[in-house]
Amino acid sequence: MKIIQQQFSVSTKTRCQMVDITGQVQSIVGESGITEGDAIVFCPHTTAGITINENADRSVPHDILLALEKIVPEHQAGFQHIEGNSDAHVKSSIVGCSEQVLIANGSLNLGTWQGIFFCEFDGPRNRRVFVQVRGQ
Ligand code: ZN
Repeated sequence: MKIIQQQFSVSTKTRCQMVDITGQVQSIVGESGITEGDAIVFCPHTTAGITINENADRSVPHDILLALEKIVPEHQAGFQHIEGNSDAHVKSSIVGCSEQVLIANGSLNLGTWQGIFFCEFDGPRNRRVFVQVRGQ
């Protein structure tokens, strides 16, 4: 089994934003030469996340961010974290910081409407994404 680790950066433009990173992850899979296996996509940040959802209709990521904002408003009575970005930490934990995708015939085996998103909850910032590709 072969294991390849790569990383790339994402520059976010707004406080909360979902950035489609499917192309960057697929490029890393392609360059790895691994045709059967899996890819783990991980973000090393406490106020961001990684998720898989629909990337065909741009209103889907918009609505996910809107719903998260309703569940966890930016300013909420009782938050104690002095940095003032507790909502971003909570959203990060709700979404999670990694996803795993199977690789078949050298491609990410995503569903027709699925894409991999980097989720920014405390931007704009320069962020990093780690990708580990395993297989043969
Ligand atoms: Zn913080």
